Amino acid sequence: MDLDIKGLRVLVTAGANGIGLAIARRFASEGAKVHTCDVDEMALSALAASDPTITSTPCDVSDRSAVKKLFAEATAKLGGLDVLVNNAGIAGPTAKVEEMNPEDWDRCLEICLTGQFNCTRLAVPLLRQSKNASIVNISSAAGRVGFAMRTPYAAAKWGVIGLTKSLSIELGPDNIRVNAILPGLVAGDRQRRVLEAKAQQRGISYAEMERTAFSYTSIKDYVTPEQIADQILFMCSPRGKTISGQAISICGDTQMLG
Ligand code: NAD
Repeated sequence: MDLDIKGLRVLVTAGANGIGLAIARRFASEGAKVHTCDVDEMALSALAASDPTITSTPCDVSDRSAVKKLFAEATAKLGGLDVLVNNAGIAGPTAKVEEMNPEDWDRCLEICLTGQFNCTRLAVPLLRQSKNASIVNISSAAGRVGFAMRTPYAAAKWGVIGLTKSLSIELGPDNIRVNAILPGLVAGDRQRRVLEAKAQQRGISYAEMERTAFSYTSIKDYVTPEQIADQILFMCSPRGKTISGQAISICGDTQMLG
């Protein structure tokens, strides 16, 4: 299927590793113009060496002055903006609420939720000029269910869905679509670290923790960053023009997270 996204101007936050990297590469492989940012400057350099078509700016999305510089550079490189993918996020702490460091709570919300606001507010005036404008906010399966001992992460990811739904109504009259993507168990280091931390907290083995995690979700396999990227490409293409205000799970139906 031709997605007709050649020349689409795309900004993906946190595109140096993991899901963001897969999204950036997939857009670029279909002929889109892609700019990204990250706090991992070494990985950004590696990306520039392996794919010079993807340009980048070092940027922490929770730092508003850095985000301003990011948008200045991105628009200079791309010549405008059609798509913003708010992907940056951290796993945040795994701890009981009374033992949680309040600074860890703040940091998780600043990056996972406020970072999306910081980028969106600068993207909207640019997206108003586009003929195929959309924003994709990366939430999580944890954005729809409770997530014991990962409370700041769950609160931020529920917040992302609230942000998405509200913006889709606010920006619909400007022909800007806004959707959220909810990955669940994603193959990769980050998921392994989260399951290890939870297994340790519970005093169970990694294998048992993994079995427990899959018992909560209808699809019993890890999804790959590339599968997530495919969904996002379709959503942001002209073929996805009827999709807005949706929070789409990529891992099947998740009943709870333990
Ligand atoms: P990852 O840890 O593999 O990559 C995250 C990237 O974000 C890294 O390159 C890191 O340097 C960058 N980053 C961290 N803080 C940043 C900041 N303040 N500003 C800019 N960049 C920053 O994680 P991932 O799995 O690729 O996660 C991407 C998104 O998907 C996140 O929003 C995450 O919450 C969400 N998600 C991931 C999973 C999963 O299982 N991996 C599941 C659900 C949702």
